Amino acid sequence: MLKIDNLHARVAGKDILKGLSLELGPGQVHAIMGPNGAGKSTLGNILAGREGYEVTAGTVSFEGRDLLALAPEERAAAGLFLAFQYPVEIPGVNNTYFLRAALNAQRKARGEPELDSMQFLKRVREKLSVLHLKDELLHRGVNEGFSGGEKKRNEIFQLALLEPKLAILDETDSGLDIDALKAVADGVNLMRSPDRAFLVITHYQRLLDYIEPDRVHVLADGRIVESGGPELALELEKHGYAWIRDRVVPEA
Ligand code: ADP
Ligand code: MG
Ligand code: MG
Repeated sequence: MLKIDNLHARVAGKDILKGLSLELGPGQVHAIMGPNGAGKSTLGNILAGREGYEVTAGTVSFEGRDLLALAPEERAAAGLFLAFQYPVEIPGVNNTYFLRAALNAQRKARGEPELDSMQFLKRVREKLSVLHLKDELLHRGVNEGFSGGEKKRNEIFQLALLEPKLAILDETDSGLDIDALKAVADGVNLMRSPDRAFLVITHYQRLLDYIEPDRVHVLADGRIVESGGPELALELEKHGYAWIRDRVVPEA
């Protein structure tokens, strides 16, 4: 589904990703962990198509298509969900209105008919009920005055509505309380299916107490330096990132 091969990238004139390779199949959940500054968010931003990131070598394909050649909205239409696409507060713009616009933009790009208000509300009700969310979330401005936990719930709600093939979540963790982490984990677990994949980027192991990943990759100094099963996250928790750093062979 997603194949990243020897990705090199540069931000503000500095080489950040230095030969990152990763493959993710349908139905799988992979976690990317790593010390601060390793390039985790840079990877997420590149997959999202954010400006300011220069890919200097390597390829990324998504279901056989050249992902890097697609504009951000084309990526969304192709079935990619990037949690950090909508973290901003948009005061005065009703959340329901915003979600409907996002969903219909995606449907339009896929050549599917737009949903009218009734159809949209029906879908919203379904998702709210599955995720056990309060409909109060709908009537507020987009992320306006939302707590960290509410933003996370809203993000998961967007994810559920957009039904992506691949969701990439960059959990910066800092400031996220346990309820917010659980909201993310519950959402991911509910949305897991044989044809949907997740790439969960996280600094801390504790999120993985609630989401059992199929694979864990450690990103350090711009490359995947270690991959393993869920036990790798526990090893990291036990030994800290210094343990990994000692095992990374410095670049020649
Ligand atoms: P992580 O998410 O693993 O903590 P980041 O991908 O955010 O790491 O950052 C990797 C490195 O790239 C850091 O040294 C960071 O300072 C640098 N970096 C990231 N984004 C920018 C930017 N927009 N301008 C300058 N440096 C950046
Ligand atoms: Mg960081
Ligand atoms: Mg980060």
